[in-house]
Amino acid sequence: MGGKRALLSSRCMRFDIVTIFPGYFESVFTQGIVRRAQAERLVEIRLHDLRDFTHDRHRTVDDRPFGGGEGMVLKPEPLAEALASLGIYPMTPRAPTTSGAQAQSAPPRVILLSAQGRVFTQALARELAGLEQVVLICGRYEGVDERINELYCDMELSIGDYVLSGGEPAAAVVVDATMRLIPGVLGNEASGEFESFGVADAEIDVDVEGVPRSQHGAGGLLDYPHYTRPAEFGELRAPEVLMNGDHAQIRRWRREQQLKKTLKNRPDLLERAALSTEDRKMLKALLEANN
Ligand code: SAM
Repeated sequence: MGGKRALLSSRCMRFDIVTIFPGYFESVFTQGIVRRAQAERLVEIRLHDLRDFTHDRHRTVDDRPFGGGEGMVLKPEPLAEALASLGIYPMTPRAPTTSGAQAQSAPPRVILLSAQGRVFTQALARELAGLEQVVLICGRYEGVDERINELYCDMELSIGDYVLSGGEPAAAVVVDATMRLIPGVLGNEASGEFESFGVADAEIDVDVEGVPRSQHGAGGLLDYPHYTRPAEFGELRAPEVLMNGDHAQIRRWRREQQLKKTLKNRPDLLERAALSTEDRKMLKALLEANN
């Protein structure tokens, strides 16, 4: 394990979520790994109820859109006040937006969750996991007054090409995918690197020879299929190769399965995957078998 990773493992990453439905997160953040990460002080999640930053009797957060049309829009003033309560103003310097951002004492990254945003990926989750603080703004209705985006946000982030009714599920996705990449959160430090979309061998700071995960770090491919007991399930038997104890064979089989699954479900990933000469040979054989 590298010294850099060990040093980083003692830090706590903070997420601030601005929402009109803080209750939405009551169950999602109190289960499993995210609960444990908070208990171990590796992650801190603060919820900010947007209605606490209103000043009228009805705690109004929305208004009709200029220009007419459907729906309502989240007003800028309560959002600006919520951000000011976090020390964020229009001119506040922001966390760098490129990879390799400094983890220590960096300014917060302010993110607007939006179907119009850049699509969230594992690479972006890795980038966020290197930051000290991330602020997530959850839209509702038709969205957020665009001036909030222009004045305060470092990026608009979408979790996929579909429209949710609010940013809360997207915030939960971003927190979950990011926090599990913070050193110390997963039981095994390198787990995230061997999963779907993981990095290539060259970027892995651990011995890849031990447990036969695959031959390599995922290198941008999808994960291989997993099996557990019983060996027989209905008509199907778990692959024999996984039960023979031959680590080299298991690695090779798993790598082949990664290539096979990626080819079937996400061929687009193959274009930028880190493939070895051996991988390319296996891929060629798979393509030939498909024809
Ligand atoms: N009028 C918006 C549009 O067409 O792009 C959709 C607004 S949506 C009903 C309400 C809120 O849900 C958005 O402001 C955003 O915060 C959130 N949202 C919807 N889809 C999302 C996605 N794919 N990723 C992230 N957030 C999303």
